[in-house]
Amino acid sequence: MLFSGGQDSTACLAWALDRYAHVETIGFDYGQRHRVELDCRVHVRAALQAQFPRWARKLGDDHLLDLALLGQISDTALTDDRAIEMNAQGLPNTFVPGRNLLFFNFAAAVAYRRGLSVLVGGMCETDYSGYPDCRDNTLRALQVAISLGLDAPMTIDTPLMWLDKAQTWALTEQLGGSPLTDLVVEHTHTCYLGDRTHRHAWGYGCGLCPACELRRNGHESWIKAR
Ligand code: ZN
Repeated sequence: MLFSGGQDSTACLAWALDRYAHVETIGFDYGQRHRVELDCRVHVRAALQAQFPRWARKLGDDHLLDLALLGQISDTALTDDRAIEMNAQGLPNTFVPGRNLLFFNFAAAVAYRRGLSVLVGGMCETDYSGYPDCRDNTLRALQVAISLGLDAPMTIDTPLMWLDKAQTWALTEQLGGSPLTDLVVEHTHTCYLGDRTHRHAWGYGCGLCPACELRRNGHESWIKAR
């Protein structure tokens, strides 16, 4: 499970724990501007283990890989102190080109050595920022390439691919009720600016960046639709 400590990957982690007998998490330290996401990973795992005994039994090791080299080959608002703006392709400059391709390849190498055959990621092309490496077609092609390259079938599961953010909140509630949606509000991180001081109904964040905006709008639609 590619686990960042954000809302989407936490929903996916719950989904994987509900579905599979054994789940390990993997995260990447690539010189993010803010360390809060990496801290959130630890808090989310601990809270899941404490509050959901049926999942605690299935939750295996966490792997945190040092991908500092990604900072060397990118020049983005995530790794430098620059304002978030849109580039010429209409993508936010928070984009690290091909980031998910690299993450899945590293996850596949670890999974292979651990005897695991499914990779789960929280990518979504319904309600997203336009990252081409989040697209379903990209990940289908990658699944084939990785399986051929390892000479072992490796499945890529993306349970959020066709859900909007409101549906992701609904899935979270379906999997773990209000204890899980409360856990997502309290412990996951989405804000591009790393703000953990402003608490809203939907969680912590600046409330103004594109990531906060998506999260707030999704939460509002979910509350209205309940
Ligand atoms: Zn924000």
